Amino acid sequence: MEEHVRINHFRNHYELTRKNLMVKNLKRYRKNLERDVGCMEASKCEFFPCTFALPSEYHLFVEEFKRSPGSTWIMKPVAKSQGKGIFLFRKLKDIMDWKKDGTRSEEQKDAAQVESYVAQRYIENPYLINGRKFDLRVYVLVTSYVPLKAWLYRDGFGRFSSTRFSLSSIDDKYMHLTNVAVQKTAPDYDPEKGCKWQLQQLRRYLTAKHGRETIETLFKEIDNIFVRSLQSVQKVIINDKHCFELYGYDILLDQNLKPWLIEVNASPSHTPSSQEDYEMKCSLLEDTLNVVDMEGRLTGKEKRVGGYDLMWNDGPVYREDVNLGTFGSACFSANTHLGCVNDREKQLRRLLKPFPGQKRM
Ligand code: ADP
Repeated sequence: MEEHVRINHFRNHYELTRKNLMVKNLKRYRKNLERDVGCMEASKCEFFPCTFALPSEYHLFVEEFKRSPGSTWIMKPVAKSQGKGIFLFRKLKDIMDWKKDGTRSEEQKDAAQVESYVAQRYIENPYLINGRKFDLRVYVLVTSYVPLKAWLYRDGFGRFSSTRFSLSSIDDKYMHLTNVAVQKTAPDYDPEKGCKWQLQQLRRYLTAKHGRETIETLFKEIDNIFVRSLQSVQKVIINDKHCFELYGYDILLDQNLKPWLIEVNASPSHTPSSQEDYEMKCSLLEDTLNVVDMEGRLTGKEKRVGGYDLMWNDGPVYREDVNLGTFGSACFSANTHLGCVNDREKQLRRLLKPFPGQKRM
């Protein structure tokens, strides 16, 4: 490839973005940490629900399943998206039925049998707002895997389900799946209102309810998920200086304000569902191209470009404004601002000199 060429995927991005491979890589990473650094460090990887790849890990799954009778599990096809093919279950019989579903033709049955799924523990106690479940969509841009260089976008959104949450009906996808593609088809979906909250609004709500310190801790734990999940595939992804990846992370909060990694998308939807969403996504794309910097306008030392903050650069990145802690020692804070004010235009005006003959933005 010529020097100037850029490609918006790494060759084997599916190592992180396919549900079964993501879990395989995370489990291996956790095991290595436990062996090399210890249990404490490995425990920082306890952010994904217990998951088994089917059919290959069926027996392991059944053992785990039997250990907690009555709990709810979710079956997800590994390579589908937008909530397609997902269902919840509490009895092993239900997945037997799925295997030999009488309504399918012989051909479909064969296809279904070879199709890989993951069986995952269902988060039964999601954090609810107004009785409704939601998850967070967050954008992370990786411009290099060796060394790892990752940027976190300030904006994102919460995607709400339209039906009040309850564990008594596990067949209602409008209650349990927060995908916009699913919610849009709900009978009472109102396109004017949509089903999203901007992350800023969500962070403000949570801060008002639980206090600043608690929510700062929550957001630090969310940062930990991004960094650890990228590290889990760092040695596996084929690095290429021409490639970059804009990931859409799905994070679910439970009632204890613990964040869970649900999945990572390699081609997050850019379809807008409102004017506000449209503007956010345009800015996201513009800033992605600003960071990728095909025109060579940056020095390469920037810690912030528009709505992106540099989160990891072969190690943690800290904010410029170092505070002095209680005992006068320097107190470093991570350079991440998820759900904080995004004054990107002001920042870009300062950062990017106009091209010759171009007016300032
Ligand atoms: P898809 O790729 O089809 O979007 P996801 O893994 O993102 O599949 O799951 C779709 C939705 O289902 C999520 O956005 C979330 O609302 C819900 N979900 C998925 N896994 C779980 C889980 N383990 N616990 C609770 N809810 C889940």
